[in-house]
Amino acid sequence: MSGFDHDTWEIVIGLEVHTELATRTKLFSSAVNHFGGEPNTHIDPLTLGLPGSLPVLNEQAVELAIRVGLALNCTVQRSVFARKNYFYPDQPKNYQISQYELPINADGWLELPSGKRVGIERAHLEEDTGKSTHIGGGGRIHDAQYSLVDLNRAGVPLLEIVGRPDLRSAEDAKAYVAELRSILVAVGASDGKMEEGSLRVDCNVSVRRRGETEFGTRCEIKNINSLRSMGRAIEYEAARQADLITSGEGVVQQTRHWNDTEGRTTLLRSKEDADDYRYFPDPDLVEIDPGDEWVERVRAELPMLPSERRHRLAEVSGSELEQTALIVERGLDELCLATIELGADPVRVLTHAEHNMADERSLDVTPSAFADLVGMEVDGKLTATQTKQVLAEMIETGDAPADIAKRNGFEAMDTGALESVVDELIASHPDEWQRFRDGDGKVTGFFVGQVMKATQGKADGKAVTALLNSRKG
Ligand code: ADP
Ligand code: MG
Repeated sequence: MSGFDHDTWEIVIGLEVHTELATRTKLFSSAVNHFGGEPNTHIDPLTLGLPGSLPVLNEQAVELAIRVGLALNCTVQRSVFARKNYFYPDQPKNYQISQYELPINADGWLELPSGKRVGIERAHLEEDTGKSTHIGGGGRIHDAQYSLVDLNRAGVPLLEIVGRPDLRSAEDAKAYVAELRSILVAVGASDGKMEEGSLRVDCNVSVRRRGETEFGTRCEIKNINSLRSMGRAIEYEAARQADLITSGEGVVQQTRHWNDTEGRTTLLRSKEDADDYRYFPDPDLVEIDPGDEWVERVRAELPMLPSERRHRLAEVSGSELEQTALIVERGLDELCLATIELGADPVRVLTHAEHNMADERSLDVTPSAFADLVGMEVDGKLTATQTKQVLAEMIETGDAPADIAKRNGFEAMDTGALESVVDELIASHPDEWQRFRDGDGKVTGFFVGQVMKATQGKADGKAVTALLNSRKG
């Protein structure tokens, strides 16, 4: 395949994300909803599709679906369960209960850390299937000798979140999934564990020449297990499609399988139509109409969401929205706000939180200790390097910054003391000083080095440079 030219082509991506809802029991029965377990132990007559068993809707699943819908700015509406008919061994009823024409949540959006909004078409409830393990061959059904079926997962409540084709790059798509994941975790709907299948992403990709207004024909990619594979799959697929268009062959709408080892997508099946599933309203279930009271109660109970927290931190600190993303992701925004509230310099607070506080134990740093540290830095009592080291030890030990500075010998180097060191050096190195005054930048390093030597590294490089400049006259 030839290289993909991002200047010629634009990638269009729309994601369908399935999330398992963190309920105690399954969507339509009292079998437990737990990841793992001995195969076929989290089951009951309904999970097995036994004749005469009937579905009873799980209220907690509906509540979680509403929470997610509201968090995604959707309209929560009257909805109807439908049967989606198809045969597969991990689904004994031979149909999946899903929502088709009337999903519980419609027409929302979420905001990426960049500030970009991505549309959400719908977020509907449905049941998960069981899990097949194909033995022999390459582990795929085509060349397997036999297959094993585990129904522990069958009937677990899922929310399928269908995003609009608003994403334009692999980076966009990764940011979208990461944001969705933090929202799901924030509202308690999911544990967000991609590696346990709590969050599964199908990725629709098309390409078009830049400037074109119509979308190209898309392919849907399955079997994406991490954000990294998603990025690779998108890049591969876009290049494949651009080649097909360039050669005149054109793209055919297909469902394709991502092979992470080989780094390519392969044909799974040509795209099936809604007609193939013979959807019809499930006669065993009544419609759900949550009503205003329930919806408003759920809305009132929602926690502050990541995008709101990012905006709040940016506003209070006066920094760029994008600088707040990592800090909110680490849950350090409350600490930053409280520290700024105590009068600490906002720019330094955010810089430390972003660059020097990746350690989880940073969450235990208290606002007053953090504010003390930033104060010592601002007053020139600690150099930038010393500040970083003190912070690292604060996180490690929980000790007060002043104590840490003291035991490391980071004594206060007050401005007066620094001034006399600098003035002595100027007096004893007249030639270098003349060169400095003549604008020879290289001598700055010499003077800073001498000051560091004289102060055993206790001086702040920036402060020294500023002093030298102020002495130029
Ligand atoms: P279907 O009716 O087959 O389910 P939809 O129109 O509902 O198809 O879209 C399914 C997913 O595909 C959505 O996530 C949507 O954003 C995405 N999608 C639709 N058209 C395109 C396109 N041309 N390129 C990329 N993604 C697309
Ligand atoms: Mg659709």
